[in-house]
Parts: sequence; structure tokens; C-alpha cells
Amino acid sequence: MMMRIAIAGGGLGGLTLARILHRHGIDAVVYEREASRSARSQGGSLDLHPESGQRALAQAGLAGRFRSEARPEGEEHRILDPAGRTLVHHTPQPGSFSGRPEIDRAALRDLLLDSLPGDTVAWQHRLVAATPRPDGGFGLTFDGGHHADCDVLVGADGARSVVRPLLTDAKLSYVATLVELSISDADRRHPDLAELVGPGNLWCVGVNQILAAQRLGDGGIRVGISLRADDRHLDTYRSKRALLDMFDGWDSNLTALVEAGDSAPTPRRIEALPTGTRWAHQSGVTLIGDAAHLMPPVGEGANQAMLDAAELAGELAANPDPDSAIQAYEEAMFTRIHPIAEMSARVQAMMLSPTAADDIIRFFSRRPTEPAPAD
Ligand SMILES: Cc1cc2nc3c(=O)[nH]c(=O)nc-3n(C[C@H](O)[C@H](O)[C@H](O)COP(=O)(O)OP(=O)(O)OC[C@H]3O[C@@H](n4cnc5c(N)ncnc54)[C@H](O)[C@@H]3O)c2cc1C
Repeated sequence: MMMRIAIAGGGLGGLTLARILHRHGIDAVVYEREASRSARSQGGSLDLHPESGQRALAQAGLAGRFRSEARPEGEEHRILDPAGRTLVHHTPQPGSFSGRPEIDRAALRDLLLDSLPGDTVAWQHRLVAATPRPDGGFGLTFDGGHHADCDVLVGADGARSVVRPLLTDAKLSYVATLVELSISDADRRHPDLAELVGPGNLWCVGVNQILAAQRLGDGGIRVGISLRADDRHLDTYRSKRALLDMFDGWDSNLTALVEAGDSAPTPRRIEALPTGTRWAHQSGVTLIGDAAHLMPPVGEGANQAMLDAAELAGELAANPDPDSAIQAYEEAMFTRIHPIAEMSARVQAMMLSPTAADDIIRFFSRRPTEPAPAD
């Protein structure tokens, strides 16, 4: 009998898993809570690393399409101090994919969705409960009363995973506040800001706070303000005036990024699972991506979610016993993620420290370059 695989969550991890399984001739259903691929803005852009995100795309047979969508020039980044002085300026080799090219999240998700048979994603299926069945596998209950059964359940349902409590009672902790603004059509409406940000990323590093800006493929700019975790209500950060007061004394060319935001700022809490989170294997269920190892957002989460997907798919394709496959994936994933989660926590603390500028310069001057994989 065919093994029925259910993937909860159609983010980058869940879709990469479905795609690589499909390439191996294994069907899976992705249950996604959103109503359609365009139901929600997918956010900013990501840099995909050769050893993780790009490797997963190569296993998905999508390295070529990635190259046609990605922006190697988006790897350019500058780090400034609050007076606007350049501390670091990294310029990638023109047209080179050997570093960490940027791709808009929406383009990446579309690329994965377009590579799947039309009925793989069950939209508008928010998982609310997964119950072990006496004969093995799980009964799934969705918002609105739909039910489904599966033999193997993969929780790819992100930070607030519904599947995670089946395996671990690890709790999220609050590590920072992120306030986001967007500036559309920047070249025409704000040419000075478009030039300041350049084709990639800009970080302006102060004491315990960062003002960052990122160029998107659609000509917009995404602005992000990172602040230390505190007790203040999120509503404190919903006014541009209040944000500008926090950047009192900064060069006005930099704070112009806040003033130019199209609409009111959107604050949110950034959370993480404890470093070293792991669980004892249980039959027929596992986690990938943020559901398994939510980390501070310093450039690894999506890359590791996609690599989890590639490694789990590879094990399931190679091993006739799904539990042996899941166990092999989990042991390798725990070992791989532990140092990455530790590094992410360190970088997050470093970025919001009083000595951030010096520490960040040291960090960037150490980063290695690796060759890009092909399909
Ligand atoms: C501001 C910010 C910047 C970041 N920048 C980077 C970066 O530059 N590089 C990088 O590698 N990572 C980055 N990350 C991290 C990255 O976004 C995540 O690690 C990555 O998206 C995880 O992928 P995922 O598939 O595990 O989860 P998600 O992308 O969160 O996808 C989960 C999916 O599951 C769905 N879902 C949730 N609950 C349910 C449910 N109950 N039932 C059904 N569906 C459900 C959601 O709608 C979603 O589609 C950043 C994160 C943030 C917050």
C-alpha cells in the first residue's frame, strides 16, 4: 500500500520537501492554512547559501530556475555607523553565484509551487489537531471541520507549530523586537534612498539598535528596525514619530528611511526555541524548519529549513522503512543545527549590543565563500 505523507505547512520547508519527494516518485499532500499563494505578502528577500538553500534547490532540480530569478548583485551590503560613515562595503563579483545571491521570498515560493502537481497543496487547511491512531499514523483535524488521515506527518508549520507539541514541550522565548516598514517604487519616488540602499542590504548599527534596509526585486525597499527585547507594548512602535525619537542624533539621511515608509510601522516580537532543542524519536512524525529549530533571524532559518527538507526527502526515498528514515534525518539534523543555532543566538546578541559595530565588522571579515551547486 502507498505510504500517505502529510506535510503541515506550505512554507519554504514544506514545499521543498514535497518537490523533492515528487522527484523521487513519492506523493505527499501539503496542508496550508492560507487561502491561496497570493493571500499574504511573503515579506522581503533571502540570500541562499551554496551549502544549504542552494543545495536543496539543486536536489529539487530547480538550480537553473533559481539562477534566472535570483539577484547575485543583491549580495552587495554596506554597514554604516549612525553618522552615516561606511564601516564595511562588500561588493560581490558581477554575475557570480558562488556567494549568497538574493531572491525575493515570493519568487522563491512561486518557483517551488510551480514545480508541483496542481493538487499537491490543499489551501485553506489550517491544522488544529493531530491525533495518533491506534493502528499507526495520525488523524488530522482542520479548522472548519475537515478531517484526513496519514501514515507519516511532517510538521513544517513554522514558529507556532501545531505538530511540535507531539514531540517536545520546548517553549519559545522572546529575543528581540522587529519593526518593519516598506517603501514602494523607490527609484522613482525616493531616488536618494534607492542610491543609499544600493542593490542589496544596508545596516546602520547603533547602540543596542539597528536600522536596516533591503532592496527588493520589485523596486521596493524593506526597512527593518531591530531592538532589544523589552517590556514595552508593541503599540509603542506603531508610530513613525516614536521610532524617529529612538534614532535621535542619527544622520538625517538614514532616518529618512523611516520617514519614507508607505504606511504605519508594523512591529512584531522575534522568538526562538532553546538552542539544542531535540526530542526522542516517535513513530510516523517529525519536524522541519522553524517548527524544529526556530532561531533568531540572522540569515540561516530558511536555508536550514530547505536543507532539512532535502535531507528528509533523501532519507525517505532511500529507506523502505519510514521510521528508520525519520530517525536518520533527525540525528543528522540535530547535529547540524546545534552549532548553527548557537551561532545565530550569538550573532543576534552581538547585533544588539553596545559594541555591535566593531563586532559586526570582525564577523563579516571572517565569512568564507563556497562554490554554488548545480542541478
Ligand atoms: C524578519 C525575518 C528575516 C529573515 N531573514 C532570513 C534570511 O535572510 N535568510 C534565512 O535563511 N532565513 C531568514 N529568516 C528565517 C526564515 O524566514 C524562516 O526560518 C523560514 O521561513 C522557515 O521556513 P519554514 O518553512 O520552516 O516556516 P514558514 O516559512 O514559517 O512556513 C510555515 C508555513 O506553514 C503555514 N502554517 C502555519 N501554521 C499552520 C497550520 N496550523 N496549518 C497549516 N499551515 C500552517 C504558514 O502559513 C506557512 O506557510 C528570517 C525571518 C524573519 C522573521
